[in-house]
Amino acid sequence: MYRIGIDLGGTNIAVGVVNAQYEIIAHHSVPTLAQRSAEEVIRDMGDAVETVLAKAGLTAADCESIGIGSPGTCDSEKGIVARAYNLGWFNVPICDILRERFGIPARLSNDANCAALAETVAGAAIGCKNMVLITLGTGVGGGIIIDGKIYAGMRSAGAELGHTLLVLDGEQCSCGRRGCWETYASATALIRQAEKAAAEHPQSLLAQVEQMTGLAVFQAADKGDAAAQAVIDRYCVYVAAGFTDLVNSLAPEMILLGGGISRQGERLLAPIREYVVNNCFGQKDGAVPVIAAAKLGNEAGIIGAAAL
Ligand SMILES: [Zn+2]
Repeated sequence: MYRIGIDLGGTNIAVGVVNAQYEIIAHHSVPTLAQRSAEEVIRDMGDAVETVLAKAGLTAADCESIGIGSPGTCDSEKGIVARAYNLGWFNVPICDILRERFGIPARLSNDANCAALAETVAGAAIGCKNMVLITLGTGVGGGIIIDGKIYAGMRSAGAELGHTLLVLDGEQCSCGRRGCWETYASATALIRQAEKAAAEHPQSLLAQVEQMTGLAVFQAADKGDAAAQAVIDRYCVYVAAGFTDLVNSLAPEMILLGGGISRQGERLLAPIREYVVNNCFGQKDGAVPVIAAAKLGNEAGIIGAAAL
């Protein structure tokens, strides 16, 4: 049996058909052109589904379901994108529209949740019933899987893990609160921390970087730059402190790290593991999870949506 997965992004809509092993057997992508009405975007999305079905030599009737991973706040029960600011979508009944067009069940969830679910069916957490995926990017995205299912809470508004508190009265967050985890642990926060270090250490390699990036911080540390290494060491503590709270709240079997920065692998993961084992409840005798990098990258959106 096949399933259709749609990864709706602010720039592109990626559509795929997956087989029973969650391998993508056909793929098609179209620009979102989000300044248009939701109806037009969803019509294009439906056309992309037809294209991908034709590529796979299938019809909608060969598929069990269609899943959509959307940015923003999604009401999964009603199949409605409640608020997606980067699309300008408010209360869009996307599941009804696609169900009517294709005659198969349509399901919806937030893209971060889809990415987490994807890792459990086809990525680094296969067979794992309880896990959390943390994606470090512009913000800190979270997806929680409990008993093999997405846990999203009332009105699917939960798992906003980036907006849990790290520092009371700390850095200003875009959500309006101060001291949220993502203001310390996002890739954006790492860049801000590196820029501050560059200003404080004019002799540092960081001070020579024209456009600061997360990668530039790691490259400077590779060359033995003490200021860059200090930024990374502190950043790992910020990430790991949040992981420790996840361990103490949920005791997941696994916490996966996603986002471009996770390509740094053990340079991030080893210090994070060390912090978590030394600081979680019960320390080494506590519920220390496996901490690893996510595996699926760009395919996670389609696979996770298909797995809904
Ligand atoms: Zn916040």
